[in-house]
Order: sequence, then structure tokens, then C-alpha cells
Amino acid sequence: MSKLAKYLNRHIVGNVFERPSILQAYNSDRSVLQYTPRFVAFPETADDVRRLVRFANQLAMRNFRLPITVRGTGLDKTGAAIGDGMLISTRRLDKIEEIDVHGRLARVQPGITLGCLNTALNLHGLTLPIGADPRVTIGGLIANCPNDDLASRHGGIYHYVEQAEVVLASGDIIQMLPYTMRAVEAKTQTTSAEGVLYRRIEQLLDQHGDTVTERTMRPFDTAGYANITRVRQGRATSLLPLLFASQGTLGIVTDVILRLELAAPSKRSMVAVLRDTKALLRALDFIKDLEPAIVRVYDMRIIELAAVEGNRPDLLEQSPDDGWLLEVSFDFRKGKTERKIQQCLGVLPPGTFAVAEDKTNSVDFREFRNALLSFLNSTSDDERIAALDDVYIPSYKFADFVTDLQVLEETLGITLPLFGSFATSNYSVRPSIDCSSLAGRQLLMSFLRQYSRLVVKHGGSLTGGSPEGRVKSLPGVQVLPANEQQLYQEIKTAFDPQNILNPGVKLNVDTKDTIRHLRTTARTGLITP
Ligand SMILES: Cc1cc2nc3c(=O)[nH]c(=O)nc-3n(C[C@H](O)[C@H](O)[C@H](O)COP(=O)(O)OP(=O)(O)OC[C@H]3O[C@@H](n4cnc5c(N)ncnc54)[C@H](O)[C@@H]3O)c2cc1C
Repeated sequence: MSKLAKYLNRHIVGNVFERPSILQAYNSDRSVLQYTPRFVAFPETADDVRRLVRFANQLAMRNFRLPITVRGTGLDKTGAAIGDGMLISTRRLDKIEEIDVHGRLARVQPGITLGCLNTALNLHGLTLPIGADPRVTIGGLIANCPNDDLASRHGGIYHYVEQAEVVLASGDIIQMLPYTMRAVEAKTQTTSAEGVLYRRIEQLLDQHGDTVTERTMRPFDTAGYANITRVRQGRATSLLPLLFASQGTLGIVTDVILRLELAAPSKRSMVAVLRDTKALLRALDFIKDLEPAIVRVYDMRIIELAAVEGNRPDLLEQSPDDGWLLEVSFDFRKGKTERKIQQCLGVLPPGTFAVAEDKTNSVDFREFRNALLSFLNSTSDDERIAALDDVYIPSYKFADFVTDLQVLEETLGITLPLFGSFATSNYSVRPSIDCSSLAGRQLLMSFLRQYSRLVVKHGGSLTGGSPEGRVKSLPGVQVLPANEQQLYQEIKTAFDPQNILNPGVKLNVDTKDTIRHLRTTARTGLITP
């Protein structure tokens, strides 16, 4: 074991490992990249995290580079949960510390998963209403701030975090929450790391007022430190918004106070197959006003490709083979949900294939949802890569985008059936690409360039669903205006002067280095949406 690892193990309660098999287990996330860390640390307390970060910061001041990447479950799709320095896993920081049932609040550590938290909360009739994979951690959710499937109805993780404890790059721990102007002024008078940070952010807000105002015009786009627009809140100031979508580049969350909601009645859904994009959009124009919890659309080719795997859902046995599959879910009480579903069925063109969920067919609905998994994990295809997932396409451009996507399929010679959430306007395609061949990696690069151009052409954003990480900030894939880049760089420097927290993520992406780290092997295990 190296001197560094021994030193760190002596100073923390948790462990630091450098065993090759452990490093290898943490060298990928869900992206197309691969970085092998030098160490993997499993802190057990916030103080462990503080010690690890302070150590890396002291090394940086002596010109020794040990970048830090914090990681929850590692489900990031943009290469932001991997790095070549010290990877800090929040796996052991997974406790629910307190649930205040009457106040509808919970205090949790960042490594608790959404699924475990909601299982515990449901026992008290409470929930954190985020429509994401139950395996994601609360720390990962805050740092990626995805536009989750329930976000159009419930607002997303941003609206449920009251306060966060954060380890800064200096190793200092601060609480992030809204403070009054007077409290902020008192902080800025001190020489503490927190005081210096508040002073600098206040200065940046004053110096870059126009850029901050302009940035509010792109609320659907999470690129950069977009939430700088929310730091000043009336007569209060809070650094908390900056954490959202910061992807571990500004600080490490070690404790969170979450606001909760009463558990909603279980969802009920309906599915329909619309023959073309025009019919789909006409139906959605009405359905969107019914306050659905989830509205998802799938190119029917996904169902057809799943059928090749033997997984054509019974639910769609009699449905047409092409067009769009529409799934709408409501989470109102029983009678209201029933009425809304009937209203949805009522607006479909005569003769449309449609099924409403009831007691007799709920298993069929579950089976239908698994068709997407069959498509993503087909035996006859190469890996269905999450290259540029969850892009934002404005609803009024959806039809034009779909038409141009067909042209791109012909140009690249690959099928790109679209799926995603109409309610949040975030969609994905999964090209089937063999990353082990040079030709495959070249195809991947062409896809990144041409697909991103298509998204921008239609007024969309690559970073609608969640932030850019490494992959979506490759030059040529996404370009931010110069004034914004400068502001974000200055925010980053204020938080992390030595650039030790997830360098190369979001800002200053080294194109050559990133391309050198393209995976050359297919991802193992289940490919998930
Ligand atoms: C509708 C929808 C759209 C989505 N779109 C995307 C997408 O476009 N891109 C994407 O990557 N994922 C997307 N996701 C997936 C997912 O929400 C996030 O990647 C997920 O939140 C990551 O959780 P995790 O625990 O796996 O975090 P990880 O993958 O382990 O980490 C994610 C990021 O969070 C940082 N992080 C983790 N813990 C902390 C902490 N304690 N403090 C500070 N930073 C921390 C990491 O450094 C990393 O940058 C989407 C999910 C949904 C539901």
C-alpha cells in the first residue's frame, strides 16, 4: 500500500483502498467514459469527508494533484461520477437520522437511496415525490438535479431541500440555507472560509448582473451554474441553489434536511397507440391540461424491437405496429383519477387502440413497462449507449425534431427510436454502438456531433434533463456564451480555488483527454433507461 493510502487510513474512521479490483469496480458510471481512480475512499462520517478533502487541498497547495470525485450509486450518464484521483463513495453515509412526521421533514445522509428513503417514509404516510430510479442517492439527486418524471407536477428535488451541510474544497464544513441580508453581511465581515465565499459570490452577483438576468431566460437548461439566478431570494441570500446540478464540483453534501409530502394514492395509467405525430400532439394538447403525474411517449419501434426478444406485452397484443405509444398516469384519489382517465380516452380519435389500467390488468401494465428494458438489452444489438440522454425539446418543435431525426437515422445508418417524458419535454434515443471497435467509436463521435446540432437547431437543450458532466460539455457538442463561461469559472474558483473537486466536469473539459477515456469495452450488467 502506498504511503498516501496508509496515511489516510490512519486519519479516518472509514477506509481508503487502492486494490486494483476495487479501483476497477469504480472506473465507470453509465456514460461512454472510463476513468480509473487512484484510491477509493469509504468515509463513515462527515468528519472523514472533511479530512479527505482537506488532505487533497493541502497536497494541491504543494503542487501535488489528487482530484476528488464524490460518488453515490454511480448512475450518472455524463461521466461525472468517475475520475482519476480519489473517488469518495457515500455508500456508508446512508442513514436516515430523523423523521419529523408532524413537521413533514427528514434529516438524512447523502448516500441514502431514494428507494430506501421512500420505503421508510411510506410507513409514516409520507413521501419524497421524485420520479427517478429508486437506486439513486439523495446526494446524487441534488448534484444532478434531474428533471424527473414527476417534476412537472411536483417540482423536482430542488423544491424539497431545506438545508444542506457541505464540505467545501478547503475542508471547512458549512450549512447552506437561506440567510437574511443582515446575517449574510455579518458572515462577509469574517475571515472564515464561509465569509470569504459569501463576499465573493455577492461581488460576482453585482459584477455579472446582466449575465445573471439573461440566464433566467433559459429555465429549462441546467448547464453551468444556472442556479446562480436563484441565490438572491427577495431579502434573503442562499448558496444552496448553487449545489443543484453542480455535479460535485463545488462541495460535498454530507447531511440534508428534506421537506416531505403526504404519500399520494397509487398511480393509475392508460396507454394508447396513436398512428402518427400529428395525432399524438393533438391528443396531448388536451391531456396536458388534466394535470397528469406522468406523460411518457415511446416510438412503437421500441415495442417491436422488444418483441424480437419475445417480450411483446400482452397489453399491446391487438395494437398497431407503428406510430406512438402514449402512457398517461394520474395520482389523484380514486374517483378523480377515474374521471381523468375517461377524459383522456374521450379525446382520442375514433378507432384508436387504448387500454385503461384496472384491477384485472395491472400486471400487464407492469409487463409493458419492462418492454423498454428488453429493447435496451436486446441480444441481437450492440450496447444501447446512453450517449446524450434526456435532451430538452420544446413541445412546439417536437414534430419537426422527429422528422429531422429520421433524416439523421438515414445519414448515420442507425435506428434511433425516441422515448421520454412529454410532461417535462425530455427525450432520449439510444444508438446501438460497438465501442470496442474504432469504427464504433467514430460512429459515436459522429452521433454526438450531429445529434447535438439537431437538438440546438430545434431550440432544445442538451442539458434539459440534467447537467453536462464531461460528455455534454465536449466542445462541438455544447457551447455556452463567453460571458456565462466567465461567470461560471469565477464561481468555481470562489468555491474551489485549487480545482480539486471533480476537475474537467462541467468546465474546462479537456477534449483530447476525454476522448482518450472513451470506453473500449461494452458496459456489463443491465442497461437501464
Ligand atoms: C427523467 C430523468 C432524467 C435524467 N437525466 C439524466 C441525465 O441527463 N444525465 C445523467 O447523468 N443522469 C440523468 N438521470 C439519472 C439520475 O437522476 C442521476 O444521474 C442520479 O441522480 C445520480 O444518482 P447517483 O446516486 O447514481 O449519483 P452518482 O452517479 O454517483 O453521482 C452523480 C453526480 O453527483 C455527484 N454527487 C454524488 N453524491 C454527491 C454528494 N454527496 N455531494 C456532492 N455531489 C455528489 C457526483 O460527483 C456526480 O457528479 C436522470 C434521471 C431521470 C429520472
